[in-house]
Order: sequence, then structure tokens, then C-alpha cells
Amino acid sequence: MLTKAVGRCYACKEMAHCHVLGEVNGPANAQVMFVGEAPGRHGAGKSGVPFSGDESGRRFEALLAVGGLRRADVFVTNAVLCNPLDGAGNNRRPLAREVRACLAYLRGQIEAVNPDYVVALGGVALDALGRIEAHGVTLASGCGALRPWFGRTLVVLYHPGRRAIVHRSVEAQEGDWRRLGEVVNANPSP
Ligand code: SF4
Repeated sequence: MLTKAVGRCYACKEMAHCHVLGEVNGPANAQVMFVGEAPGRHGAGKSGVPFSGDESGRRFEALLAVGGLRRADVFVTNAVLCNPLDGAGNNRRPLAREVRACLAYLRGQIEAVNPDYVVALGGVALDALGRIEAHGVTLASGCGALRPWFGRTLVVLYHPGRRAIVHRSVEAQEGDWRRLGEVVNANPSP
């Protein structure tokens, strides 16, 4: 139902409408949901699979492995489901109004999958989730932390893209993912 509605949505005029939502995102009852920023031009915008086909996707899968998590077990989505492009056809951050426009779909995914853990990958995802229910945390202050949120646990991590290394070293990020995996694997869904 949600996938069909998303496929018919053209609310954001300045985007490539790739509508990355469907079975490719992961199991409909996943214990863990990852929320990134947006499909990228060379990644999900082309492959149709979130975090797949570009450098962010490769780093995401490498960090999943560091955490001892399997992609087949997790649900992966983005704050916006289409690809934000600038006038030259390059990726750009989604605008606040675009995040707001896609918020009902993000909330719908969380309610439908009902994961125990929602993992914000970067500031755009963290901001979007805070619009669903306030969490009072920033990326810098809350990175690696787990906190109660929206009837489940919110986990804050940096986006796996290259630019995050400016703010958090590769080693620190790997430690964050290792801790996430330890918590998830110690508390499997019944
Ligand atoms: S990003 Fe979301 S709200 Fe915007 S056009 Fe795509 S599906 Fe619709």
C-alpha cells in the first residue's frame, strides 16, 4: 500500500523520481531499520536498492560487516525516497521542505516494519526522525548513543559516506558499529 502511494508521489518537483521503496529495502519485519539521507545518483538512484552501487553503499556494507550484521536481516531506507539533484545534475542534500514532504512515508515505514532499533545515519536522517518524535539529540552529541524514542530505541551514527570522516575517524565509526552489533545480537527479536 505504502509502496504504491510512494510510486505515485511527485510532491518534490526538483528531484529525480526514483521512488526507492519496496522489497529491496529489506524484510518487512526487520529488527533493525537504517535511515540514510537520500538515494544517490550513482547509488540507489541507479540501482534501485538503498545504499547500493556507490561508495556510500560499499562503506555501509563494510560497516555492517564490522558490526556483525547481515544486510539480508535489516531494513534500509532514506529520509527522502527520491534523488535530490542540483541544476547541474549532481547530488545535493534534500531541502527541509522535501524532508517534510516525505515524512509521512518515513513514519509509515517505521510503523509498518515496527523495528526494535531505528538507526539514524547522519544529520538529515536524525532531523527527519526528530520531526516524527522529538529526541533532543544532535549528531555530534549523540553519536553512538542509544536512547528511547517513538516506542523503540534510536541509535545515532554518522552517515557512511566519505565526508563523515572529517568529523569522526574511521576507527571511531567502526567502534560505533561494533557496539551497535553487540547490542542487536545480544537482544534478538523473539
Ligand atoms: S521524495 Fe518523497 S515526498 Fe518527495 S516526490 Fe519522492 S516520494 Fe514524494
